[in-house]
Amino acid sequence: MPRPDDVKMSQPPQTAPYLSLVVPFHNEERGIDVFFSRIDKALADITGDYEIICVDDGSTDGTLPALKRRAAQDPRIRIISLSRNFGKDIALTAGLDHATGEAVIPMDADLQDPPELIGALVEKWRQGHDVVFATRVSRRADGLAKRVTARLFYRFHNRIADLPIPHDTGDFRLMDRRVVEALRSVRDKTRFMKGLFTWVGFRQASVEYVRPERATGETKWSFWQLWNFAIDGLTSNSTLPLRIWTYLGFVIFLFAFGFAAWIVIRTLIYGVDVPGYASMMVVVLLLGGINIVATGILGEYIARIFNEVRQRPLYLIRERHGFSEPATPRDDLPSE
Ligand code: UDP
Ligand code: MG
Repeated sequence: MPRPDDVKMSQPPQTAPYLSLVVPFHNEERGIDVFFSRIDKALADITGDYEIICVDDGSTDGTLPALKRRAAQDPRIRIISLSRNFGKDIALTAGLDHATGEAVIPMDADLQDPPELIGALVEKWRQGHDVVFATRVSRRADGLAKRVTARLFYRFHNRIADLPIPHDTGDFRLMDRRVVEALRSVRDKTRFMKGLFTWVGFRQASVEYVRPERATGETKWSFWQLWNFAIDGLTSNSTLPLRIWTYLGFVIFLFAFGFAAWIVIRTLIYGVDVPGYASMMVVVLLLGGINIVATGILGEYIARIFNEVRQRPLYLIRERHGFSEPATPRDDLPSE
C-alpha cells in the first residue's frame, strides 16, 4: 500500500486540486492545441496544481480523440464525453459535477474567455470574494444585431426578473468550492446558468476584459437558438409573464362592464340599434388575440413543468477518462 508521499507526481493528484477549469467542447477539434498551449502558459505563473475537466458535448468531429491524445500526455486533463449534444449549459453542469478544485472556472474552448485573465480572477478570490465574474467591457467581437438584441434582452430580463443578472457577463467566472456545491444542489431542468449563478448569491466581485474574437471555427448559436435561450432565461427567472394576464384581464373586465352598462342604458332609451359590425369585430379579434397569447405563455410554463416532472437525468455520460474515483453519487445521475 503506497503511502501518500510515495505517490509519484505524474499520477492524478489524489487530493483536491487548487483550480479546476471546466471547458465544454462541441466540435472544437481545430482549436484544441492552441487552447491547451494558451492555458498552460497562462497557468504557469499561477499554479501547477490544477485540473482541466473537458466535457465533450456530443462532438461529431475529431474533438474526443484529440482530447484523449492530450490527456494521455497530461494527467491533469480529464474527459467526460456525453452521449449526445446536450447544449452548453448542460455540458457545464456535467463538468461542475465532476470538478473537485478549491476554485472552479468554467470557460469556453474557443479562447473567447482569455486564460490570461485567470490570474486576476484568482487574486480577487484570494481577497475573499466567493464569486469573481468577468464582465466584457466591449462586445466588438459580436455583430451589431447580436449586440442590440443582447442589450434588449438584459434590459427586459432585469426589468421583470426576480433577480437581475449582471450585463454582459457570460459563464466565465471563478467560483469558490462553497458556491459550486450550492450550484450543484440546483437541479433545474431548464438550465439558464447565468440565472442560476445569480440565484445562489454569495459575495461577488467582477473583473473587466475585452472579449476577443473566436480563435478558430465559428459560433454554434443560431438566431433561433438564441431566441429560445432568451425565453428560457425569462421564464426560469420570472413569473411575471404568467401573472400579468390577471391584471390585464381585470382591466378589460372593468372596461367591458362599463361598456355593457352604457349599451343597456342606450338601448333602453333609444331602442335596438342593429349596425355595429365594426365594433363587434374589433372586440372579438382583440380579445381572441389576447386569449391566444395568454394561452401560449401558459404553454411555455407548462412545457417547463412537464420537463421538470419527467425527472429525466440532466445528461448521460458515454465515457470518462482520467478520474480516479467515481463522482459523488447524486440521485439523478446515471449509475456507472
Ligand atoms: N458548446 C457546447 N455545446 C453546444 C454549443 C457550444 O459545449 O451545443 C461550447 C463550445 O464548444 C464553446 C462554448 O460552448 O466552448 C461557447 O460556444 P460558442 O463559442 O459557439 O458560443 P458564443 O461564444 O458564440 O456565445
Ligand atoms: Mg464563442
